[in-house]
Amino acid sequence: MNAHTADVVIIGGGIVGSSIAWHLTAAGCKNVLVIERESAQGKGSTGKSMGGVRAQFSTPVNIQMSLYSIPFYARFEETLGHPSGYRDQGYLFLATKDSHMAYLRSNFERQRALGLKTVRMVEAGEIASMLPQLHSGDILGGSFCSTDGFVDPYSVMTGFMACAVDHGATLWKKTDVTGIVTETSAAGHAVSGVETSRGTVGTRVVVNAAGAWAAQVAKFAGFDLPVEPLRRMLVPSEPFDDFPHSSPMVIDMSNGFHFRPEGRGFLLAWNDPEETSSYNTDFEPAFIEKILTLAANRVPAFENLAVNPKRAWAGLYEMTPDHHSILGPVPGLEGLFLANGFSGHGVMHAPATGKIVSDLILHGKTAVVDDVSVLNFDRFAKGALLHETAVL
Ligand SMILES: Cc1cc2nc3c(=O)[nH]c(=O)nc-3n(C[C@H](O)[C@H](O)[C@H](O)COP(=O)(O)OP(=O)(O)OC[C@H]3O[C@@H](n4cnc5c(N)ncnc54)[C@H](O)[C@@H]3O)c2cc1C
Repeated sequence: MNAHTADVVIIGGGIVGSSIAWHLTAAGCKNVLVIERESAQGKGSTGKSMGGVRAQFSTPVNIQMSLYSIPFYARFEETLGHPSGYRDQGYLFLATKDSHMAYLRSNFERQRALGLKTVRMVEAGEIASMLPQLHSGDILGGSFCSTDGFVDPYSVMTGFMACAVDHGATLWKKTDVTGIVTETSAAGHAVSGVETSRGTVGTRVVVNAAGAWAAQVAKFAGFDLPVEPLRRMLVPSEPFDDFPHSSPMVIDMSNGFHFRPEGRGFLLAWNDPEETSSYNTDFEPAFIEKILTLAANRVPAFENLAVNPKRAWAGLYEMTPDHHSILGPVPGLEGLFLANGFSGHGVMHAPATGKIVSDLILHGKTAVVDDVSVLNFDRFAKGALLHETAVL
């Protein structure tokens, strides 16, 4: 006999677990228990995120997840009574090669066909007049989506969780999930509970929302999940007024450097190709010189950008082999659902993920995307990998 029971147990109280908890309670499933091992929410990747949200992806499933999530963020405060911090300042991709232009154009056509009205191709001259501070000699053109932008991930996460708790969910902090209990009967192999540092909880449904630690949780159920941690570093600048604070997220496709306004300064990001998988979240001081060189090459005025290395930070992306999330049930183990492997897009796709996972648990199907099965775990065994090149 278990001291505790729940209809659904969610492992991980980051933005993804919180969104799933809210979507479940909003759909009437009240007895939801979220288990977080840290003493506070946000100590995983969510609290380290850049907060970018965009619908400018290349695959239909990623585009459709954003088409649910971004309007959801725009209405977040109306729906949940908490701010999301959504700012529709856009994402501007800068192409410096013909191949970039061809790629952006084919994405643009797919995005429009799926109903994204706010994306457009932009010519080099328009980019130069939008942001004359850019070094634009090598820019051939680009694409811009005005409803892309930024949110405050911490505020979204705590808003989702506070509302879920108001609707009946429970959050346990400082509680480690240490095992998944299963049973085998004539009906098959099924989840019957989780083991935690507070004792066993009986449940028929468990969601793995453990972010970069998802593979460890999958091991509790006896299988290998291809989700690997990868360090990402961000560098905030000191206040700087020689570039507009109304700027979109700007992505330099020549090298992947990107930046956006943050407070009175700018937040600089670049995915260093030399990083290899690990749980290291130490900020590497040598990164500053590398990123400032990229920054000044694209924005000459950034030559004078001051940064304080003590304010820079690192966190973990949760990478899958095809840079797409893994969503849905686990074949052969009734009751275990995955919400993992967002490959750096977990904030922007948290609302859609919450709705999809809640729909799959409660109804076995979802209308958020045309074909959610493309994100199933069994795509790896089948060799049916997806291909998303727009990873930032
Ligand atoms: C530098 C950086 C910049 C980023 N920028 C963006 C961006 O611009 N846009 C975007 O969409 N995404 C971005 N991301 C990615 C985004 O932050 C993640 O995809 C997202 O936060 C994942 O949310 P999550 O809830 O799955 O994971 P997390 O926030 O990591 O939450 C998982 C939680 O599970 C808990 N947990 C793990 N194991 C256990 C266990 N055994 N028992 C109990 N609890 C457990 C952890 O403590 C953690 O709190 C960025 C990430 C980084 C690091």
